[in-house]
Amino acid sequence: MKEVILCKYGEIVLKGANRGWFENMLCRRIRECAAFYGNFEVYRAQSTIYIEPKDEGADLGGVFEATQRIFGIIAVSRAAVTAKDMDSIIGTAIEYIPKYLAGKRSFKVEAKRSDKSFSYNSIEIAKLVGGALHAACPDIAVDVHTPGIVVRVEVRELGAYIHAGQLPGAGGLPVGSNGRGLLLLSGGIDSPVAGWMLAKRGVAIEALHFESFPYTSERAKEKVVALAGILAGWAGDIDLHVVSLTKIQEELKRSCNEEYFTLLLRRFMMHIASKVAGSRGCGALITGESLGQVASQTLQAIAVTDAAAGLPVFRPLVGLDKEEIIRLARRVGTYDTSILPYEDCCTVFTPRHPKTRPHIARVLAEEKKLNFSALAADAEETLQTIKVSAEF
Ligand code: ATP
Ligand code: MG
Repeated sequence: MKEVILCKYGEIVLKGANRGWFENMLCRRIRECAAFYGNFEVYRAQSTIYIEPKDEGADLGGVFEATQRIFGIIAVSRAAVTAKDMDSIIGTAIEYIPKYLAGKRSFKVEAKRSDKSFSYNSIEIAKLVGGALHAACPDIAVDVHTPGIVVRVEVRELGAYIHAGQLPGAGGLPVGSNGRGLLLLSGGIDSPVAGWMLAKRGVAIEALHFESFPYTSERAKEKVVALAGILAGWAGDIDLHVVSLTKIQEELKRSCNEEYFTLLLRRFMMHIASKVAGSRGCGALITGESLGQVASQTLQAIAVTDAAAGLPVFRPLVGLDKEEIIRLARRVGTYDTSILPYEDCCTVFTPRHPKTRPHIARVLAEEKKLNFSALAADAEETLQTIKVSAEF
């Protein structure tokens, strides 16, 4: 029996004149993912994208799972395809659907006829298919109000499709449809989730990680590469840039008041990230900050670090509690990697009493003790780029 995957998309249908452009973006992303699983044709008709295997070797189950990580899709189903006549539809339903009904107490059939030339209307289709399925599986009741499972029959332009068990997609907009952002990626729990949230809104992701070798280890960097790989499973391939802050941190320790270490370091991060973003065509920075979570994330501290950024800074987690972020991290798949206990550059030379309500004038006075731009420029020279591919 021939099977395909049907992908339904949400917000894109509201895009008016730009709709086709968004649809093409989404098709391209689906093709990219499907290519990992073999030979597929991806095409669209009537607000649905079809993924059709072209040979025996194509792994439909693999693609089905992967589609749940493609932003822009709101629902996916694996469907049997048949000719647009009532006998074939009933025959296919009886053959294909019982495995989905197993273990369920009740079902109902919903039909949709977008090909209006089909000679049965949707109520008739639902009745006929429902009756035939009930005859084939008499132990499973028909319940139109609270069914255990909904069987759907769609008579469309290109054929008739029968499926049960539509799964929710990732939602959002296709990656790349909303520009490019530079994610400040630490090895922690928050920043990968922040990147995921912006990717969900269509932002293509590049990442920047600051290390402080030898105070931070090679293993800490490998962990960040692994996190970028998991994120790439949702956002597509990621260029991960790594910049060393070692010299800056040593200089801070030598010259500045300890209370301001973290704030000054974060201002360096924002400044360097803005430069990297500018040279890579990224229109915004993305961080995993959440208001009040740590000393450097108070309103005043964020104002001080924000002032060093030359681009808009998106902080999609700003209003989330840690528990909510952890829940998202589990969904993204980064949580188990994030909690591996390696050091981050922010955790070396941490002040015992960081300023939580800094005055910008005091911070700038501390910063004047250093040659900020020369130190930042030296750090930029250390940039290395790792190409991280999606792990499917
Ligand atoms: P995370 O869990 O993302 O590490 P956090 O709660 O530990 O966040 P901070 O260490 O204050 O908070 O970092 C705040 C944000 O600054 C991070 O979410 C991340 O975007 C960025 N950041 C922190 N450390 C680094 C780093 N080593 N490289 C790149 N970005 C970093
Ligand atoms: Mg951190």
